[in-house]
Amino acid sequence: MALRRTRWAVTVHERAPSLDPLGAGLVLWPNAVHALDAIGLGGAVRESALVLGESALRRPDGRFLSRTDGARISARHGAPLLGIRRSDLHALLTDAVGAEALRLGSEVHDPAALAADHDLLVGADGLRSRVRAAGWPGAQAAYAGYTAWRAVVRADVPVTGMSETWGRDERFGIVPMPGGWVYVFATATVGPGLRAGDGAAELAELRRRFGRWHAPIPALLDALEPDAVLRHDVDALPRVPARLHHGTTALLGDAAHAMQPNLGQGACLAIEDAVVLAHTLADGAPVERALEHYSALRRPRAVALSRASAGIGRVTQGVGPVGAAMRDAAVRLTPPRLVLRGSDRAAGWSPPALPSPV
Ligand SMILES: Cc1cc2nc3c(=O)[nH]c(=O)nc-3n(C[C@H](O)[C@H](O)[C@H](O)COP(=O)(O)OP(=O)(O)OC[C@H]3O[C@@H](n4cnc5c(N)ncnc54)[C@H](O)[C@@H]3O)c2cc1C
Repeated sequence: MALRRTRWAVTVHERAPSLDPLGAGLVLWPNAVHALDAIGLGGAVRESALVLGESALRRPDGRFLSRTDGARISARHGAPLLGIRRSDLHALLTDAVGAEALRLGSEVHDPAALAADHDLLVGADGLRSRVRAAGWPGAQAAYAGYTAWRAVVRADVPVTGMSETWGRDERFGIVPMPGGWVYVFATATVGPGLRAGDGAAELAELRRRFGRWHAPIPALLDALEPDAVLRHDVDALPRVPARLHHGTTALLGDAAHAMQPNLGQGACLAIEDAVVLAHTLADGAPVERALEHYSALRRPRAVALSRASAGIGRVTQGVGPVGAAMRDAAVRLTPPRLVLRGSDRAAGWSPPALPSPV
């Protein structure tokens, strides 16, 4: 959508044979909402999403460590904090792109050949990017030391804001979605590749770990269908590559800077990348020069947020009792205005201008 604004004819190669509803939920921070506005999709996304009333950190016994009013986040950054189902965001984006540009079941095996046949190749192929593997052989994702569960659940419990509850080795997050759905996620510090088993076994593992945490966590777990539980180990790129392009190939999203999910910014940055990429290609400069500009604009932000996200991982997974008590005290003693100001680094981003639609 962003490249089309700059008069590019785009083909999207997607290896999935069909666009089935997938994934759980996503938080879209104001920076992503601004980026979606820049490509004309902000209105539709707002209609499919829920404005989050609060962003809170809690302890397993329910005590609040910090609470930030969602309205103050919106007012500070000029766009709302939204919860949306991944399947709804996918549907909206694919409808906007249109069937004629989207090739399903089209797995890219040879990125170099594709690049040679086209003016520009954008590797937006995720954490295990083949485009990155081909052009950046040393840049591989590695296990971050913890696993994650995700699910959406329809539960008869009032949830208006998002919250994350921090234990010593574990976290549990709650994000309300439209239509009475709730997105829940959880993490635990464990060795890589371990699995409890099928959905029922993973749900039993979640109950074992979080069933005695504060309300409404037990009620949400009780309402969860085993088939809805997704489990993935958290992998991230230890370092963002020195350049996000080679020749006429650019990396975007997790392919460029897969980071730990602790800021809820991975997809938000992917959307930002798209807008900045289109902006750098808008003035008709040679593609290689435009991509140099793209790398220079995007890499520092990706490095800063990857580091910040890894830092949160370090203080929330595998911390001792003293470390957890110090962490909780530090968060509790941070004045609300500083917490709000702390959102500036990630959420306080505005998109560059793009040409109006044709
Ligand atoms: C537990 C967890 C919670 C998260 N929560 C949030 C959140 O709240 N907010 C947020 O902004 N981010 C969040 N993220 C991060 C977010 O999920 C990712 O950053 C985001 O999905 C990256 O988008 P992407 O388009 O770059 O890659 P992907 O979403 O991985 O998409 C890549 C696409 O490329 C296709 N593909 C791959 N290889 C090929 C090939 N060779 N040929 C053709 N097609 C191919 C895949 O099928 C896929 O459709 C979270 C991540 C985790 C693990």
